[in-house]
Amino acid sequence: MASSAARSYDPDALRERLLPERGGSVNESIPQLAAADPDHCAVALVTAGGDVRGSRGAAEPFSVQSAVKPFLFALALLDTGGEAHDRVGIEPTGEAFDAIKLESGTGRPPNPMVNAGALLTAALVDGGDADGRAERIRSGLSAFAGRELAIDDDVARSEHLLGDRNHALAHLMRAEGALQAEADDAVSAYARACAVLVDAEALAVMGATLALGGRNPVTGRRVVPAEVARDVVAVMASCGVYDGSGRWMRSVGVPAKSSVSGAIVLSAPGVLGAAIVGPPLDEQGTSVRGRIGSELLSAELGLHLFGADRG
Ligand code: GLN
Repeated sequence: MASSAARSYDPDALRERLLPERGGSVNESIPQLAAADPDHCAVALVTAGGDVRGSRGAAEPFSVQSAVKPFLFALALLDTGGEAHDRVGIEPTGEAFDAIKLESGTGRPPNPMVNAGALLTAALVDGGDADGRAERIRSGLSAFAGRELAIDDDVARSEHLLGDRNHALAHLMRAEGALQAEADDAVSAYARACAVLVDAEALAVMGATLALGGRNPVTGRRVVPAEVARDVVAVMASCGVYDGSGRWMRSVGVPAKSSVSGAIVLSAPGVLGAAIVGPPLDEQGTSVRGRIGSELLSAELGLHLFGADRG
């Protein structure tokens, strides 16, 4: 049911319904994010058959920010042959994305969806040094998106310069023995990962690739093994919306990742990938339009994982 309904779903109709939602405020952690147009709104869907449906604005670029975290985790699992599972926890924190907190007892980052975990996974991908890792991340994300993505160097510089909490986390993880790379290299690779430019359509293809077992439904190319995709989507379900993850799973019921650029990437297992973009955020750093749009999309297509009507 969900798959055939997804093929005829009109993303512009959903966008129109989201435009009057004016709550939340744009993130101001770096000048480039503060300059985002609060009225920007876009929706994109990618079905299991590789149909891509984008609303107006779905080709407008923005920096991926934390929506990169599931894909960094996937690349780290791939490049370490699964060893990344031992290096990062998978339990939700109930805290903000940039909390200065590691797993008690082990000193590992609590999960790969918070900043501590993503700093570590960015340092675990192949590449040797920060430049090599940034390029490996850019090309890996491009495989998920099915097209060549670029890094916005200005955004990366701002992230690196202004990311004091990320520097603190990287040093803390070094002190705990959790991070083996240089602290500054980890921040540099992570800052550039957050600065990769995507648009709603690219992000929806990326989400679909995870939802569909690691094979990009548009290019037909396998990007990661099925078990890597499954593990990543499982962690998105429990940790993807930070301290709002429990509420998200009840009200939307689709594994997703939020980001400070106002994008949400959704991976509905076996059915579709989607992205909903709107820069104003709520207190948990979740796009207000993204959250409302995700609830509507899930209800209309019967995507809720725990709904008895899931098609
Ligand atoms: N660049 C941001 C940071 O690390 C990403 C955070 C986010 O999107 N939640 O602070």
